[in-house]
Amino acid sequence: MNHKKYDLIIVGGGILGTFHAYHALKKGLKVVLLEKNTVPQGATVRNFGQIVPSGMDLKWQNIGRKSLEIYQEISQLTDITIRQSGSIYIASDTEELQLIEELSQINKSNNYESHLLTQAQSIACCAGLKKEYAKGALFFPQEMNVDPSLMIHRVRKLLIEKYQLEFFSNNTVKDLEDKGNEVLATTANNQKFIASKAIVCNGSDFKILFPELFNQSDLVVSKLQMLRTKPQKNYTLAPSVLTGWTIRRYESFYECPSFQSIKDKENKEAYHNQYGVHILFKQVNDGSVILGDSHEYQDAVKADLIGFDRNEDLDHFMIEESKKIMNLPNYQIDKRWVGMYSQCKEQDVFEQQIEKNIHIVTGIGGKGMTGSPAFSEMSLNNIINR
Ligand SMILES: Cc1cc2nc3c(=O)[nH]c(=O)nc-3n(C[C@H](O)[C@H](O)[C@H](O)COP(=O)(O)OP(=O)(O)OC[C@H]3O[C@@H](n4cnc5c(N)ncnc54)[C@H](O)[C@@H]3O)c2cc1C
Repeated sequence: MNHKKYDLIIVGGGILGTFHAYHALKKGLKVVLLEKNTVPQGATVRNFGQIVPSGMDLKWQNIGRKSLEIYQEISQLTDITIRQSGSIYIASDTEELQLIEELSQINKSNNYESHLLTQAQSIACCAGLKKEYAKGALFFPQEMNVDPSLMIHRVRKLLIEKYQLEFFSNNTVKDLEDKGNEVLATTANNQKFIASKAIVCNGSDFKILFPELFNQSDLVVSKLQMLRTKPQKNYTLAPSVLTGWTIRRYESFYECPSFQSIKDKENKEAYHNQYGVHILFKQVNDGSVILGDSHEYQDAVKADLIGFDRNEDLDHFMIEESKKIMNLPNYQIDKRWVGMYSQCKEQDVFEQQIEKNIHIVTGIGGKGMTGSPAFSEMSLNNIINR
């Protein structure tokens, strides 16, 4: 038994759990973070690390913009691999050009800085971008990217050293009991922790805590296939690069007047539409480039059936499509992996109060790296003030 009494137990050391901890610690609360793995291994370390409010609907764009400020604030204290080198959406045909022009108008009215670039300017901005592909682009200079394999570990280290976060890894929380005025957490290795409240940020793990609740929810898991090249020599790709199929996919573009008519003309049976493929490029500090991605979905109740295997044809397809867009010095693939995130069919995020002092916050979907820092602050305030 850990005899200390905490103000808050957080279950799950991904980005949602860590940023709930960050805001709670800044309020002076005593926080313990319990993580089932040695270090978090979930979506938070398996993603692109693109911080792209530009891809989101207006509500989440605002949350993303506030998150940019929080990332800046933290990077004043320590290096969390933030690079403010912007995001660029490359249009490959007249329809996508139309959509980026419409989005740039929408952004003007939202006071969010973006610049339409000509073909030549787009190529100057992205080394290796092929002129046969790029017809023009929309650039967001304020946006950032992080190295997902490092960022969360550095934030957690800061929280431990500066704000006295207590972190227990290899502690799978198998039971949470609300005892009226406190919560008792029991881990698989029989450690016990007591706090006034608990927040469960379990990502896409629906089998351990409250499986019945998740089984009946509208949560789904999405499985994404990712690739990382060997480090590129004498090559710099500053911005996060998002391409034509992203323009046809991301929520911000739904607000464009031409979006629906353009979507209606698409071939739904095309391979990239069946697998939700869009091609993104993000260079990491060691010079390698992350490429991806694809999307396959499964309901929470049978999430495990989605499997951990990779589809080789899909990898091959994404590499060949990437080559049509960008002349990278090498396309030698060093790492291949799948990542999973959870999302809701109907709501933005799965937020549920279980008894008086236990709350669940998960299912932030594909917007977690962009939205979690600011969303977690709002979520924590709601939970504390409830
Ligand atoms: C391939 C891929 C690419 C992506 N790219 C981007 C991007 O570029 N930009 C963007 O904004 N978003 C992106 N996302 C989305 C983003 O990564 C996720 O939204 C976010 O990481 C979800 O964070 P989380 O904390 O909810 O979940 P996770 O990171 O999965 O964390 C959940 C944690 O809870 C722990 N846990 C679960 N149950 C227990 C338990 N009972 N006891 C103890 N610990 C437990 C797990 O071990 C895990 O560490 C991407 C996602 C993927 C998969």
